[in-house]
Amino acid sequence: VLQCYLAPFYRDKKIAGITIVFHDITKIRKVEQMRADFVANASHELRTPLTVIKGYSETLLHGALDDREHAEKFITIIDHEADRLQRLVEELLNLSHLESRRQDPLEESADLLAIIPNVGEELKPRLLDKAIFLDLDLPKGLPHVNANPDRFKQILVNLLDNAIKYSPQGSRVQVTIQEEEKTVKILVKDTGMGIPAKDLPRIFERFYRVDKARSRQMGGFGLGLSIVKHMVENMGGTIGVESEENKGSTFWFTLLKKHN
Ligand code: ADP
Repeated sequence: VLQCYLAPFYRDKKIAGITIVFHDITKIRKVEQMRADFVANASHELRTPLTVIKGYSETLLHGALDDREHAEKFITIIDHEADRLQRLVEELLNLSHLESRRQDPLEESADLLAIIPNVGEELKPRLLDKAIFLDLDLPKGLPHVNANPDRFKQILVNLLDNAIKYSPQGSRVQVTIQEEEKTVKILVKDTGMGIPAKDLPRIFERFYRVDKARSRQMGGFGLGLSIVKHMVENMGGTIGVESEENKGSTFWFTLLKKHN
């Protein structure tokens, strides 16, 4: 998108020429569009549970309260939708906090080899639930990286959570670590449903979901990966994904080595 300004200039009170200035405002328009999309998406996600809550609470007020069995069912639904709203608001606050911070302090340090097994423990119930084998392929030694340990944990939990969510019963999820010159690369590989090539470039966008209905059913808002991307980048790292539909996905991210 080009914006064009024309400015005549004069010599002896006569127009001697015209200056034409072109401004490329493609980027500004894009940011404006993204902001508008974000507000529309967030409002839509907030409205859906609210509509359900309103519907059931009105039904209760208009008589269903006297029917204990139905009343309990309705209140359970209200409670479930309120949980969903709470999760959404927490994720939105998390995202807005990350977006306003830009860069984490560089004096943080994390020992990944100590943290990763704890993350595995934490996810045990979910792994058992789907009979998924978590293979932690860790090196013997590894330099510390520039990362807040809690943030690192959050990133890994998020990626593993997705790997479990989008993988079949009884499959294997693998975490590998590669040491590079200046960075440490962490890879999370699954053999699940994968991501269609056309969706891959947009996967880290806020609210982007490959299959809205399926993802929503699984409780997702499509915010997890954008939160993860911000966390990685705020720590000075990079993030990416390779994926093939029906074969599986490998999400990876890098963190800067601490030089002692
Ligand atoms: P959600 O909370 O909906 O899972 P995310 O931001 O974490 O949101 O992920 C965005 C979308 O990317 C998901 O809806 C899903 O379609 C896709 N996705 C993420 N991780 C994987 C994975 N490991 N395998 C297949 N699809 C994935």
